[in-house]
Amino acid sequence: MTSLDSPPYAYEAPASADLFGRAQRVTPGGVNSPVRAFGAVGGTPRFMAQGQGAYLTDADGRRYVDLVASWGPLILGHAHPAVVEAVTAAARRGLTFGAPTEGEVELAEEIVRRMPPVEEVRLVNSGTEAVLSAVRLARGVTGRRVVVKFAGCYHGHVDALLASAGSGVATLGLPDTPGVTTGAAADTVVLPYNDAAAVEAVFAERGSEIAAVITEAAVGNMGVVPPLDGFNQALRRVTAAHGALLIVDEVMTGFRVSRSGWYGLDPVDADLMTFGKVMGGGLPAAAFGGRADLMEHLAPAGPVYQAGTLSGNPVAVAAGLTTLRHCTPEVYARCDQVAVTLRGAASAALFAAGVPHRVQQAGSMFSVFFVPDERQVRDYDDARSQDAARYTAFFHAMLARGVYLPPSAFESWFVSAALDDEAVERVLEALPAAARAAAAVDPSSAPPAEEPADAATGMST
Ligand code: PLP
Repeated sequence: MTSLDSPPYAYEAPASADLFGRAQRVTPGGVNSPVRAFGAVGGTPRFMAQGQGAYLTDADGRRYVDLVASWGPLILGHAHPAVVEAVTAAARRGLTFGAPTEGEVELAEEIVRRMPPVEEVRLVNSGTEAVLSAVRLARGVTGRRVVVKFAGCYHGHVDALLASAGSGVATLGLPDTPGVTTGAAADTVVLPYNDAAAVEAVFAERGSEIAAVITEAAVGNMGVVPPLDGFNQALRRVTAAHGALLIVDEVMTGFRVSRSGWYGLDPVDADLMTFGKVMGGGLPAAAFGGRADLMEHLAPAGPVYQAGTLSGNPVAVAAGLTTLRHCTPEVYARCDQVAVTLRGAASAALFAAGVPHRVQQAGSMFSVFFVPDERQVRDYDDARSQDAARYTAFFHAMLARGVYLPPSAFESWFVSAALDDEAVERVLEALPAAARAAAAVDPSSAPPAEEPADAATGMST
């Protein structure tokens, strides 16, 4: 017998299953980015056929309220008419020129206007590319090798930043992804997130070797873990004192949690910043930027090489620019309001079902940690202490009821301004049964927390 809430699920999706089978024959793991494979939650990944406003429709014709929003970019919802129109118009004018366009200037101006620490910006194609370029620039400018990152933070699949922590302060990273050389990882130091003392200690020991500290402005990649009060400020202080750069990664938070990203909620002046997701409006566009005296080291103004055939692509720029221009105060207010409602309802449902948990937020980003002792999740070790099996049950019960959540307990939920009252109501109706499904998981018999295979580095999409 099958049920909505236990495998094999009554709502299994034959068209998706068929596509997944075909995909697995021609694509590693059947997907083009690991978490899409549902590895952490099991079951058949849904192959999507359409997105409209707050909803996704899969290959079997089932409709879901979307709380993933393509992992962040779709703050206006799917296929926003103005964005689609801008993209269509841009495509008609030409798909790519390999020469500068007015749109690139406008997008750069828009970013600079919103982000006070950013005086100059360069457009690239993905968050990964933004981060690896910023790290190269930091090394080029300082003439130093070492980069400090935090366990549980994800900055794209940049070799040097896939190094995971050994234990303790100032541990040299070792490669834990085959293909990342010891050399690439040797210059990475991985520290526990939110541990300012650990940062000070590593600077006391190796300060003159450190080119940069990179951090997510507020972490969304081990579930949502905001910086403790004063943590980002401490990073600013310590890096400045030792002549190292502070790189704040706003790929996920940027233009999402406020019009100026996390900076708008907790301003700390980084030397370099990275952006992606919302600023690409659903097409491949990303950026890095910062102080002009640093950015001027980039070719052709300076000697640090960085380039891209499709960088500043006119169609992607049209999507990004139109999205940012439609991110009005009302859009952010709606996202905040929906997030408050959903956070509260998720927590109330879990509480009513007797499920220990903790909901954490960074602006309108939030996630539920199924932590047994309900204490604040401050770092990656805390995040890993959750019963991910409970999330699996919760996830599938929501999916069965037409709500698409991130298929991993270690990811943020993303809202969009397209979530109208009807869509929100559908989520609210699904929550009590999902909470009961989570309650039915016996933690003592549950397998250990499932995490992304490479979770020590905070791997993502
Ligand atoms: N930085 C952060 C904070 C991210 O969340 C991500 C992706 O999720 C990246 C960088 C990498 O971006 P992309 O997937 O566009 O390469």
